[in-house]
Amino acid sequence: MSGRVYQVTEFEGAFLECLISAERIQARVAEIGRQIARDYAGKEPHLVCVLKGAVVFLSELMRHIDLPLTVDFIAVSSYGSATKTSGEVKILKDLDTSPAERDMIVVEDILDTGLTLNYLVNYFKSRGVRSLRVATLLNKPSRRLVQVEADYIGFEIPDAFVVGYGLDAVQRYRNLPYVAVLRGAG
Ligand code: 5GP
Repeated sequence: MSGRVYQVTEFEGAFLECLISAERIQARVAEIGRQIARDYAGKEPHLVCVLKGAVVFLSELMRHIDLPLTVDFIAVSSYGSATKTSGEVKILKDLDTSPAERDMIVVEDILDTGLTLNYLVNYFKSRGVRSLRVATLLNKPSRRLVQVEADYIGFEIPDAFVVGYGLDAVQRYRNLPYVAVLRGAG
């Protein structure tokens, strides 16, 4: 339920305030999956999940795309903190298969400054994708530092630090079925 508050024990004085309920997420992800199936009818999209945060979104989304498709995974780390992002991205785990001539859909958890996605889009283009679109569960448009937008967006959210449905705080909370704002964690 939106606004419901959950106590947490991991960080002293912190609590989770539900922002998007599990039911709303499920309904919206199903909608995006059906939209992708319509947009890619007759094609075989190649879904590339940006680890680790997007893994929950990917697993739900792909079950709503009624088309032949393939998946791959990439893991990246951004240098610098969230507030002082340098824009340099390091690839920790590269794609297993070549994306050349594929209709790629990059699956992201959250689009914040856009620096990570901007880097990835350029990287995938340099590897010869036929087409490239982006699906993100969450979008924080107010934080954007570079001009990069997603084609499929689950929810627009305000500038707050959120966890759940794949998103973490120090690797915790990825398993929450809802998205919550982590408050009071310092
Ligand atoms: P960007 O390069 O767009 O600034 O950052 C994207 C990455 O920053 C996301 O994939 C995610 O890992 C992290 N990030 C940005 N905002 C949040 C947030 O509110 N919560 C969490 N858990 N991670 C975030």
